[in-house]
Amino acid sequence: MRLPLMAADPTKIDEAESIKMLRYALDRGVNYLDLGYPYDMGRHERLTRLLSRGLEDGYRQKVRVGAHLPSLLVGSSSDFDRYLDQQLEWLKTERLDFYLLGGLNRDVWPRLKELGVLRWGEGAMADGRIGGLGFSFHDHFQALRDILEDYDGWALAQFQYSYMEVDRLPGVSGLKYAAEKRLAVVAAEPLGGGRLAKEPPPSVAKVWADAQTTRPPAEWGLRWVWNHPEVATLVSDMSTMEQVAANVALADGAQADSLTVADEVLISRVRDAYRKLRPIPCTTCRGCMPCPQGIDVPRLFELYNDAVIYDDMETAASLYRRERHRIDSCTDCGICADACAREIAIMDWLKKLSGAWDKK
Ligand code: SF4
Ligand code: SF4
Repeated sequence: MRLPLMAADPTKIDEAESIKMLRYALDRGVNYLDLGYPYDMGRHERLTRLLSRGLEDGYRQKVRVGAHLPSLLVGSSSDFDRYLDQQLEWLKTERLDFYLLGGLNRDVWPRLKELGVLRWGEGAMADGRIGGLGFSFHDHFQALRDILEDYDGWALAQFQYSYMEVDRLPGVSGLKYAAEKRLAVVAAEPLGGGRLAKEPPPSVAKVWADAQTTRPPAEWGLRWVWNHPEVATLVSDMSTMEQVAANVALADGAQADSLTVADEVLISRVRDAYRKLRPIPCTTCRGCMPCPQGIDVPRLFELYNDAVIYDDMETAASLYRRERHRIDSCTDCGICADACAREIAIMDWLKKLSGAWDKK
């Protein structure tokens, strides 16, 4: 059964209401709970301890739980045990069903591999602290393929997948490849972190209006993801009981391979209308990488383009801080601009982005 996963922002938490939402979902068949990527361990601890209370009274047995290694914080191999044991303690459990190496990409994965994370993961499975080893991922198809080729024991892969990512990060090719390798694929952010469910910009609203559809955009977004038989489940942030009830009801009626050709055409029109709003013509090809200062230019351009097309600079600024980008370390060396086949004025754009985010 493909059902949405509960997640929550601990800064806005009403504990009693959150536990009620969690249990409502679990009582109706939600069977996978993702603790989310721990950018900030203090925040992660608060959320995990809250969920542990929600999972009392027999609810832990109703759901599979996945937690993420905070890869960005890992400095040595001893951190693997330290973070896992902390998470087990906060959740008051002796075992996590899945442990995901968090935020893998072409830079993070070689570093963890070098530190012996696979050997460590095999040990944690052998001693029973984790049921299966997986990873969350943010990069293109080739990087996903490299990770899958490096180890044949992966149980689960989680990456961003909405109708805006059909051909990127790692897109439908990555989805099919991972499923062929018999991994459970978890689609994260099926509504673009909620942004595809918001009031759309006028050009996108016109596409929906011309189609005379009675389904709201959020329903279209979820149905589009569920339409893929390769998706094992999807995980979506929900902050109100109404959202939980609506998503659980939608999940009950969701079917793979149920969208018509006309439905797919409508979604591709919506996608094109959004993409026309992107101010930076970056394809995230990563041809400009690596930067000697460690600046992830494609990711920054992706954050900015998303901020503009979804009219949501606040989320982009928050991700910029959480992912610890530092545009101010740019030395204007020009290596990235020389390598960009699309001749994007990268340094000019970086100054603009720095103005938008570094001063907040
Ligand atoms: S110009 Fe800045 S972002 Fe580009 S490669 Fe040089 S240091 Fe990195
Ligand atoms: S090379 Fe140009 S198009 Fe490719 S990721 Fe870098 S900035 Fe974007």
